[in-house]
Amino acid sequence: MCGACGWLSGCSNCAGKLVLHLKDRRLRCHHCGHQERVPHACPSCGNADLQPVGIGTQRVEGALQEHFPKARILRVDRDSTRNKGTWQAMRQQIQDDAVDILVGTQMLAKGHDFPNLTLVGVLNPDGALYSSDFRASEKLFAQLVQVAGRAGRADKPGEVLIQTAFPDHPLFRALREHDYDTWAKTLLAERQSAGFPPFMYQVMLRAEAKNETHMYTFLQQARDAAIELAMPVDIYGVVPAAMPRRANHFLAQLLVQSEARKPLQQFLREWRPLLDVLPAQKLRWSLDVDPMDF
Ligand SMILES: [Zn+2]
Ligand SMILES: [Zn+2]
Repeated sequence: MCGACGWLSGCSNCAGKLVLHLKDRRLRCHHCGHQERVPHACPSCGNADLQPVGIGTQRVEGALQEHFPKARILRVDRDSTRNKGTWQAMRQQIQDDAVDILVGTQMLAKGHDFPNLTLVGVLNPDGALYSSDFRASEKLFAQLVQVAGRAGRADKPGEVLIQTAFPDHPLFRALREHDYDTWAKTLLAERQSAGFPPFMYQVMLRAEAKNETHMYTFLQQARDAAIELAMPVDIYGVVPAAMPRRANHFLAQLLVQSEARKPLQQFLREWRPLLDVLPAQKLRWSLDVDPMDF
């Protein structure tokens, strides 16, 4: 990021931002694979003082090294686990107690059993509390419970420290008290009042194309056809996807929902053949029933 003009290293093919890889001083897009050298100065205003944003695992590793100069630190990330042999060797290092501090992304929370792991720190998971994906806080809770399960064993009690700007959020309160029931009830009440699953049944029509106009025309025609069927379902507007541009393609979507599954299935039976005959040149589309990602 450029502090002078606000420039951010965006990907030229996607709506996403490039991620800084310190080891080889490159910026990489984690969506399409595009990469480039870190610029010496801001491409927009020429300011030479560019700053990294966010907490990458490499920066966390650097900070830990400063605070604990004698600790043996192992960083596990996408790069280090891409190669199966490397990951195998790292696991062996951990099993052999050759590692004091393990730094990694959320992938470390999954399915690995490290018996001597007794303290876990979770750095700033707040994004999930206010995500556009209504399931994000449910996923975060599940993940943190999983992380807590990773720390400690019967003979070696574990501890989990979570960094957050919202310590009084119901999610953290429920987590602290190991109170899954209250958290589940809170979420269910929220979903019911907002009209989200499991109180609603949904289908998402997604389209992607290099040409933005083709994509929107297709989705708009699909929406018109849906409305003309005049069936008892709610038809939303055409909106850009959460990641509206990826690898040089534009992505958008159209949500249809109903309070019961049957009317939605009847609607789909009528709608599907209409979609099949819509002009869809150089365009990919799909119907996602019970979509998990928004
Ligand atoms: Zn990209
Ligand atoms: Zn600038």
